[in-house]
Amino acid sequence: MLIDVHSHFWEYPRDFTADFREQAKRARAGLEVDLTVRYEDYHAACRVPVRTIVFGGKARLSGVWVEDASIARYVAAHPDTLIGFLSVDPTQPGWEKELRDGHEQLGLRGIKLLPMYAGFRPDDERLEPLWRYAAKHKLPVLLHTGTTFVSQAPLECTLPRHIEPVAVRHPEVKIILAHLGHPYEGECVVVIRKHPNVYADISALHYRPFQFYHSLMLVQEYGVWDKVLFGTDYPFTTVNATLDGLQSMNRMLDGTALPRLDEAKIERMMERDTLPLLGLA
Ligand SMILES: [Zn+2]
Repeated sequence: MLIDVHSHFWEYPRDFTADFREQAKRARAGLEVDLTVRYEDYHAACRVPVRTIVFGGKARLSGVWVEDASIARYVAAHPDTLIGFLSVDPTQPGWEKELRDGHEQLGLRGIKLLPMYAGFRPDDERLEPLWRYAAKHKLPVLLHTGTTFVSQAPLECTLPRHIEPVAVRHPEVKIILAHLGHPYEGECVVVIRKHPNVYADISALHYRPFQFYHSLMLVQEYGVWDKVLFGTDYPFTTVNATLDGLQSMNRMLDGTALPRLDEAKIERMMERDTLPLLGLA
């Protein structure tokens, strides 16, 4: 069973400001992504059975706000395949209550953070209650790391190195750094190598194939294939397109002496049962 650790649900355009929607046209070079989420579309682009972690996102600074209740409703409509995560924006009042309610009332099973989009650092001391809560209730935390198209989102907040103090203080919390921290993959790879419960996902990278090849070579040469998880970032891309991207990576090297990615390791990443790893079995 393939596990997609990174997909979204939201109501488009309702959950976004006009400013965000305008800036989102820069998300993928040469292509304007339709940000409408439909389960049928997601499912139709899965050529293998998939279980999927889904979240919305909250970041007032960037103009996105998806209520946790709508994630819970989406998951309730597809309980056999979907696992829902809650989201908080710790720069906004009431986030600690939203954290408890999302977990205790709505039954959401992990936490999604958007540090750069919301304008906070994950090692900020204001977040200590969040990390303690995640540790106490065994909630995995997936953070956006790497860049974005949003002008007002500070790059300083997104660097993978800022996870290190958190991983040192809370080594038991399962943490996933999204998008291999692109284009700070080197920083991401050294963080996941050092800290046993810190992982990274490969979502939304295949459509920049030359960069993706370099990123996965970093993974390979540092020996951290076992810390890398499959993810899509739907609706920015799909399961089938991500599988195609991964499986065709070495074809780009035909006729060159460049080192190959280990296809057995790629297959193992896709076959690995990620849910027990994250405490979500
Ligand atoms: Zn995402």
